[in-house]
Amino acid sequence: MKMRLRINSRNAILMGGFLLGAYLLLMITVTNAGQNRLKESQLNELSLKVNSYSESLGYFFDATIEDVKGVAKHKTTYTFFANLASGMSMEYGLGSSLLQLRRNLVRLTKPDTQLNTSALFERMLLVGFKSNVIADSHPRLPFDVSRVPFDEMRTTDHKIDVLAKNDQIIIRVLQNVYFNGELVGVIVGDVNLDVVVHLLTTQEYENSSSKLVLATQQGLLPIWNTFNAEGNAVALEQGSTLYFDKEVKQTPIRLHAWFEPVSESQIITSTWFTIGLSFLAVPVILGLYYSLRINNTNLVLTTKIEETHNQQAALTRQNERLKTEIDRRKMYEQELAYQASHDTLTRLSNRKSGDEKLRHALLQAKREEMNVLVMFIDLDNFKQINDTLGHLAGDQILMQTAKRLTESVRKTDVVARIGGDEFLLVIPNLSSEKQAQLLASKLLATFEDPFQLEASEFFVSTSIGMSIYPQDGENAEELMAHADTAMYRVKKDGRNGFSFYDSSMNTDVQRNLDIDARLRQAISQDELKMYYQPIIDLSTEQIIGAEALMRWNDDKLGFVSPDEFIPIAEKNGLIHKLGEIALHTACHQAQQWQSIQPLSIAVNFSAAQFRQRDTLMENILTALSNSGLEPNLLDIEITESLLFNHNNETVHLLEEIKQLGAQLSIDDFGTGYSALSYLQKFPFSKLKIDRSFLQEMETTPSSQELVNAIIAMAKALGLKVVAEGVETQWDKDYLQKHSCEFAQGFYYSRPLTKEAFEALLLEQNSRTS
Ligand code: C2E
Ligand code: CA
Ligand code: CA
Repeated sequence: MKMRLRINSRNAILMGGFLLGAYLLLMITVTNAGQNRLKESQLNELSLKVNSYSESLGYFFDATIEDVKGVAKHKTTYTFFANLASGMSMEYGLGSSLLQLRRNLVRLTKPDTQLNTSALFERMLLVGFKSNVIADSHPRLPFDVSRVPFDEMRTTDHKIDVLAKNDQIIIRVLQNVYFNGELVGVIVGDVNLDVVVHLLTTQEYENSSSKLVLATQQGLLPIWNTFNAEGNAVALEQGSTLYFDKEVKQTPIRLHAWFEPVSESQIITSTWFTIGLSFLAVPVILGLYYSLRINNTNLVLTTKIEETHNQQAALTRQNERLKTEIDRRKMYEQELAYQASHDTLTRLSNRKSGDEKLRHALLQAKREEMNVLVMFIDLDNFKQINDTLGHLAGDQILMQTAKRLTESVRKTDVVARIGGDEFLLVIPNLSSEKQAQLLASKLLATFEDPFQLEASEFFVSTSIGMSIYPQDGENAEELMAHADTAMYRVKKDGRNGFSFYDSSMNTDVQRNLDIDARLRQAISQDELKMYYQPIIDLSTEQIIGAEALMRWNDDKLGFVSPDEFIPIAEKNGLIHKLGEIALHTACHQAQQWQSIQPLSIAVNFSAAQFRQRDTLMENILTALSNSGLEPNLLDIEITESLLFNHNNETVHLLEEIKQLGAQLSIDDFGTGYSALSYLQKFPFSKLKIDRSFLQEMETTPSSQELVNAIIAMAKALGLKVVAEGVETQWDKDYLQKHSCEFAQGFYYSRPLTKEAFEALLLEQNSRTS
C-alpha cells in the first residue's frame, strides 16, 4: 500500500520533473543550434552584403577613375596642351581651349538631368604638373595645390587619395595627363560623397539596426547608423554586434560595418524566446515543485498519521488500562458504597441506609397521602445463643433471620439491620392497621420454626414494635423512637409478641425524666435502702452469702425497680454515688452479720463505675477499712458488658481488686456480648447464670443444654457457678443433679430488708445448732 503510494505520487512527480527538465534542455539545445545556424547564415549573408557594398564602391570608384581618365584624354584637354605647346597666346586660341576644358570639368560636376542622377564629383580641376591650377569647376573655392601628390603620381597613372579638410573628408581621384608622352598635369576630382552615401544606403533595406562607415587614415565618413537606441549603442561599444572590415579595392578606404545579430531581431529563435519558453515552464516547474511539496507534505502527513495512529493505539491501550482501573475503582467504590450502606453479614441495608430509605418513603407518603408502617424487630434470646454457642452460631441466626424477614415482605418494602439483633422494616403504602397486624403475626409465625445450627435446632422468638406514619409521628426520628418504645413494651410484657405504639407509652419518657430528678433527691435524703437476697450452697442448702440489691420507694413514683433507675443513673452519672452507698452499706451490714454466721456479701458494680477507676478503688478500700470486713468476704459482681469494652487498665484494675483479696463474680452470664474465652483473661472466681435460662429450663430442652454447657465450661475454667432465679423445686433438683454449687432465687428467698435477712440467718442458725 505504502510502496504503491510512493510510486504513484512522489516518483511520478519526480519523473514528470525530470522529463520536463529533459524537454527544456532539448529545446534549449535545439533552439541554440538553430540560433547558431541562423547566426552563421546571417554572418554569411552580412559578409556577402558587406562584400557587395565594397564591390559597389569599387565599381563606383572605377567609374570615377573612368570619368577622370575621360577628362584627361578628352580633346579639350589635349587641345589645350597642344595649344600651350605651340606657344599659342591666351588671347589667341589658348584662352578658348581653356574655356572648353573648364566646361568639360564643370559638366562632370553637374547632375545628369536626363538620367536624374547626381554628379559623381563635387569639383574637378586640372592642375599643371608641379605647377598651378589650370582649370577649375569651382574657381572661386580655394584649392591647395601643395596637397596634390605630384611625386607619387610619377609612379602611377591614377590614384584615389583621401584627405581631411576642416574636419571633413575629401575623397579625391587623381589622374595623370600626358602630352606627347610627357606628364603635364593631373586631373583632380573631388568625389561627391552624397553619391557614395546614396549608393550604399540604397542597398541597405534591412530594418534591423546597423552601422556603416568608410574608414580612412584621415578620418571616418559615416554612411549610416541605425543603432539609435541607447541599449544598441551600448551593445555597439561592448562589441556584442556583428562586425565587418572590408577594403575597397584600389582605394585606401576600408568599409567598417556593424550589424545587430540576427537572434536579437528574430524573436522566435532568440534567447528571449528561450527564456520566454523557460518562463512558460516556470509554472509547470512550480506546479511540479508544489506537487512534490504536497506529496512530501502528504508523506509527512502519512508519517504523522501513522505516528498519530500509533500514538492513538498507545492511547487506546492506555485508555483501556485506565478503563479497567476506573472499572476496578468503580467496583471498589460501589463495594465501599455498598459496605457503607449495607450490613456485610446479612447483606441487608444498615442503620444509616435504612434510615435514609425510611425518610424517602416518608417524603413519598407525604406527597401521596399514604400511610407508612415502621417496625422494630428484636430477637429475644439472641445474646444467649451468641454467647454460649459463639459468634459463628450467632451469625447464622442473624443471616437466617434476615432471610425470613426478607421473604415475608414485598420487594418494595425495606428490611434493614440496625443493631446487633435489631431489625427495621419499613412498609410504604400501608392500607390499614389490620394489614400491619397481619404482617406482624406472619413474622412472629416465621419464628415459630426452629433455626438449624449444624445438627441442633434452636428457637428464637422476636419482639416487634410498630409505629405508623402519620398518626404516630411526623418524621423518621419520632417514628423510630415510637416503634422502639412499642418494642420495649413487648419485651416488658414477656417478649415474643408485637405491639403498636400508643401515646400512653410516652409517659415512659416522662417517667425517665421524673426518675432522673427524683433519684437525686432520694440520694440526698437517704431514701435508698439495701435489700439482701440469700445465696445458698446447693449441697448443704445453707445460706453462705447474700447479694445486696438496691431498693427505692419514692413518695411520688412509688416503687422503682433498680432495672429502671440503674440505667438512668448510669447515664446521668449518679451511679458512682449509688455504688458508693451500696458498697458501704453492704460491707457494714455484712461485717455485723459475721457474728451470727460467716457469710460473704455480693455487691453489684456497674460497668460505668469502672470509668472512674481511682474513685472505685478508693471506695472499695474505704468500705473495707471502715467496715472492717475481711476483703475475701466481699464479692464484686460485674456484668459482661464491662469485659466487652475492656482495655488493659480494666484488666489491671480487676487484678488489683483480686490482689486486695476480694472476690470477682461474672454476673448475668449468658446475656452479654463476651465470648467464653474472655473469662480466662479475668481473675473471676464465680459465674452467675442469668435467671432467664432458669425460667425456660423446665419447658425448653435447649435451655437445659445451655445450662449444662455453662456449668461444664465454668468448671473447666475453675469457676464456681451460681444459678440465679431459682424459683421451683424442679430448678433446685436439676441444678443439684448437675453439680451447680450455689443457688439464688425466690424458691429460697426474695431479697429482704436487713432485719428480715438477719431473722432468716438467726432462724437458720437455730435450726442447725
Ligand atoms: P441482678 O444482679 O441479676 O440481681 C438479681 C435480680 O434478680 C434482682 O432483681 C432480684 O430481685 C431478682 N431475682 C432474684 N431471684 C429471682 C427469682 O427467683 N425470680 C425472679 N424473677 N427474679 C429474681 P432486682 O433487685 O430488681 O435487681 C435488678 C438488677 O438491678 C440487678 O440484677 C442488678 O443488676 C441491678 N442492681 C440492683 N441493685 C444494684 C446495686 O446496688 N448496684 C448496681 N450496680 N446494680 C444493682
Ligand atoms: Ca447481681
Ligand atoms: Ca444477675
